[in-house]
Amino acid sequence: MTDKRRPIVAGNWKMNTTLRDARELATALREPLAGLDGVDSVLCPPFVYLIAAGEVIEQSNVALGAQNCHVESKGAFTGEVSPAMLVDVGCRYVILGHSERRRLLKEDDALIRRKLESAVAHGLVPIVCTGENLAENEAGRTTEVVGGQLRAALHGLGGLLGDDAGAKLVVAYEPVWAIGTGRPATAQDAGATIGSIRRTLVELLGEAAAAAVRIQYGGSVTPANAAELFAQPEIDGALVGGASLKAPDFFAICRAAAAAGL
Ligand code: PEP
Repeated sequence: MTDKRRPIVAGNWKMNTTLRDARELATALREPLAGLDGVDSVLCPPFVYLIAAGEVIEQSNVALGAQNCHVESKGAFTGEVSPAMLVDVGCRYVILGHSERRRLLKEDDALIRRKLESAVAHGLVPIVCTGENLAENEAGRTTEVVGGQLRAALHGLGGLLGDDAGAKLVVAYEPVWAIGTGRPATAQDAGATIGSIRRTLVELLGEAAAAAVRIQYGGSVTPANAAELFAQPEIDGALVGGASLKAPDFFAICRAAAAAGL
């Protein structure tokens, strides 16, 4: 991690927790994270628990994020949640293009691109997920696949992001085969792929803007492997699934990111 970028660790709770769990998890994290400087921490509960978790972390240094949003601000889109609604309930971040949504809900690059533009226009900071599947990895296509996803997601958005891209965008590199498997990428491989992502960002956004964008690693991050991952100069934090559901584990990962960023 370089001293120019502040690490960011986001917990993707996915479709987990009850209302009570969500309150308890946010409560268990609020105080410990208040004492931690040098890292941005984000909790991403399910939509229905955003307000409850948001009330717990209000006025704290912990930010609220959502796991998805629709493209439009409002209208006849039954079952959807708009970026304007997310802002209204206190969200600062939104995860877009998670591999589970790409794979299970058939979200394609074009849709993710439209969501991204809308999220930024509404003042949300998208955490844009990229990552290759196992076959692509084994075929040596990681850089090509991840670069293609990023180009598609950011196509034509240089103007909207402007020189301030570092404050308006977060990218996550999440190899699909590493998500929820207990089998993370090696720190070296993750660092190398994230380095390639940054080179693509330079092409798309220019040198200065690309240097400011934070790029997380995601995929089976735990307290046991976090420090090694964060020691890689290109890795600016983590997107955490399973381990974000245990307050001590999520806190330990945030602490490792803060320590690496100092
Ligand atoms: C994720 O789904 O974004 C993720 C990284 O999950 P896990 O940490 O459980 O691998």
